[in-house]
Amino acid sequence: KAKEAGKNQIMFFEKSMAESIARTTELKDDSRRAIDEDEFYLVYQPQVHAVTNKIIGAESLLRWNHPTRGLISPAEFIPLLEDIELMPEVGTFVLKTALKQTKEWLLADRIDDSFKISINVSPQQFRMSNFPVIVNDIIERYEVPPFMVDLEITESMIIDNIDYTVAAMKELRSTGVHFSIDDFGTGYSNLNYLKKLPLDVLKVDQSFVRDILSDPNDTAIVRTILAMANQLNLRTIAEGVETPEQLASIKEMGCHVYQGYLYSPPVTSADFEHLLNENYEEMNT
Ligand code: C2E
Ligand code: MG
Ligand code: MG
Ligand code: MG
Repeated sequence: KAKEAGKNQIMFFEKSMAESIARTTELKDDSRRAIDEDEFYLVYQPQVHAVTNKIIGAESLLRWNHPTRGLISPAEFIPLLEDIELMPEVGTFVLKTALKQTKEWLLADRIDDSFKISINVSPQQFRMSNFPVIVNDIIERYEVPPFMVDLEITESMIIDNIDYTVAAMKELRSTGVHFSIDDFGTGYSNLNYLKKLPLDVLKVDQSFVRDILSDPNDTAIVRTILAMANQLNLRTIAEGVETPEQLASIKEMGCHVYQGYLYSPPVTSADFEHLLNENYEEMNT
């Protein structure tokens, strides 16, 4: 009996392994078509001021609506796109789409130029020697003020090639573009680069926010990150705020902006416009 069960488990394991390899292969094969057939699109999550509740920006997040597999998570497909070196191209699509959208919202007076559009940058995209040129070209083409643009990079991308990183960031920073460190606290904690780099925002990773009320270690980590950011004159955004208690907690610790399901999950551009309308009414009543 036990042997049977073990055998079944192995067969199950082999089957799911084979399925996952087939899926990976299929997704990689399909990604070229996905670009050409507009299967990729962006959703937007509001970034909200913790005290006033005003929407002060949005993070753009990539989605793939696959014709047979349905909606696929970027956590799954971005590593695959990196493998086959399509991420720079998809990254350029992300930049164009986010800035085109921002320009439309500006022209329609749905936002003003204090609004920040946060855009995730992939390691491969950031490593391209012409990355600053590409970003500046797109910013000029869509006539978005550079200071409205906030590029999210991660700790590992910085460590990878510190000299290049400093140069690329300074070049973009000189035109007004802002930089955030995403998922802060989950990467290598070489704090030395924090003072070397032209950074504006630290995004406190959602893994620390999740248990902020129940795990004293997480409470201490968030408190420390916020205190340090404050000392270094960096703004902070708490990610993954899902409950009023978590919001109260990060607010009490001095974090001024948050993102999370508590206010809204990432939504389509049309739904984001509704959120902007609602928020505007709330601010003016
Ligand atoms: P990220 O940049 O740290 O984005 C935050 C993730 O947390 C998003 O997942 C968002 O949907 C999710 N999230 C937001 N609020 C909450 C919350 O209250 N609770 C929980 N549990 N999750 C929340 P998503 O959209 O699946 O993206 C996953 C990751 O994929 C992103 O993490 C980012 O690293 C990457 N990614 C997404 N879009 C892009 C893109 O356009 N370019 C690049 N290079 N990477 C992207
Ligand atoms: Mg991000
Ligand atoms: Mg993050
Ligand atoms: Mg993340």
